[in-house]
Order: sequence, then structure tokens, then C-alpha cells
Amino acid sequence: MIEDLRRIASRAADRFTRRYWGPTFRCPVCHFLLAAVDADGNALLVCPVCGVVIEIESVYGHIVPVVHDVEVFRPQPKARMHPLATHLPIGLFPFALLGAVVLFVASLVAGWGAALGGRAPVLADATLVLLVLAVVGALPTFASGLWDWNRRYRRRPYRQITLKIAGSIVFLAVGGLAIALHASGAVFSGATGLMQLGSPLGLLAALLYLGALAGNMLVVTVLGHVGGTLVYGR
Ligand SMILES: [Zn+2]
Repeated sequence: MIEDLRRIASRAADRFTRRYWGPTFRCPVCHFLLAAVDADGNALLVCPVCGVVIEIESVYGHIVPVVHDVEVFRPQPKARMHPLATHLPIGLFPFALLGAVVLFVASLVAGWGAALGGRAPVLADATLVLLVLAVVGALPTFASGLWDWNRRYRRRPYRQITLKIAGSIVFLAVGGLAIALHASGAVFSGATGLMQLGSPLGLLAALLYLGALAGNMLVVTVLGHVGGTLVYGR
């Protein structure tokens, strides 16, 4: 089962990479996956992980990466803000999703909510707090990531970083929507703390809320995975 899910995820990731990365090759030194399209006008590209300067030669339509030099003066501060800050959204968001799923299951059948022993409003509040902390915590993460891109990578284009910037904007926007839905009382009843699945409007709000959380979980997982490859290599 887990093996199947892994295969499906890796097939989807491969297809996505082929489509949006275009022709790719491995850094000859650290084997990090690089996109030929990220090279500059002189067909030169600096590996974001190991810092070697690569010239992309095209031989009969095949990409042949040639290592010329190592970028020695690239600032590589040891304790960077971005990988530290990222643990706040990545660490807390799954628990906000877990709280929402527990409340959804408790709201499905009249009587199931009783299993929470009247603690549903507390759980709903705790879920909102986790959600706010995860989304607000994504702001310094995003800012420090942009700062790193500016300084450490000198604003060079990398497919991985473009994907991370786009994903971060989606995470903040969708996270903001989920917070608004939760805090406005459209999803949870103030009295019982459960989702109002009986009314069409309540059901729609609940599905939108759960969809936003599930979508953002996928986004934050991809962001963390891609970020991890930029820190640890392939
Ligand atoms: Zn490399």
C-alpha cells in the first residue's frame, strides 16, 4: 500500500518535472538535478548545492555538463534562518489538519460528537490556533527564503526556487482562506464546536475548509521536500 502510494507520487513528480523543468541533467559533482533552461546566456549555470560552475555543451542534442570552476566566494552561512523557520509551518500544519479531520469525523453522524465529551469547541479553538501559527509562521519562512535566494544564490533562476516561491504564495493564500473560514464561524458552530454539515451552506463551507487544508498539506510537503534537496542535495 505504502509502496504503491510512493510509486504513484514519484510518477506524478517525474511527469511534473519533465513538463516544467524541460531537459534536465545531473550535476557532475554532487548529482543534483538541474534544468538546462536555468543556464544563463553563456550556457553557464552554478549548481545551487555544491557551487560548481557548469557549462552546458550540447553534443548531437545531448546535454553534456562540463565543470569549469567552483564558486568560492559564495556566502554560505552555517545557521541560516530559512531552514530553521520552516519547521514552524511544516511542524504545526499537519496537527491543524488532524484537528480538522477529527472534528469532521465527529460531526458526520449525530451522536459521534458526544465521543469528544463536550470538548469539541476547545478542539476547534486549538485547531484554529495551530492553523494561525502555521500560516503566520510561513511569513518569516518565506521572507528568509527570499533573502537566501537574494544572497546565497544571487537571484539566479533555479526551477526549484521558482517552484518554492509559487508554492509559498499558494500556501499563504489558501492558509488565509482556511483561517477566514474557520474564524468567521462559517464552518464550526459556536455552541457545539462541530461542523454544521446538515445545512447546504455549512456543508459547502466545511468541504471548502477541508479541501483548503488538504491542498495546503500537499503544498507544504512539496515545499519541504524541494527545500530539503537544496540543503542536502539529491
Ligand atoms: Zn552540484
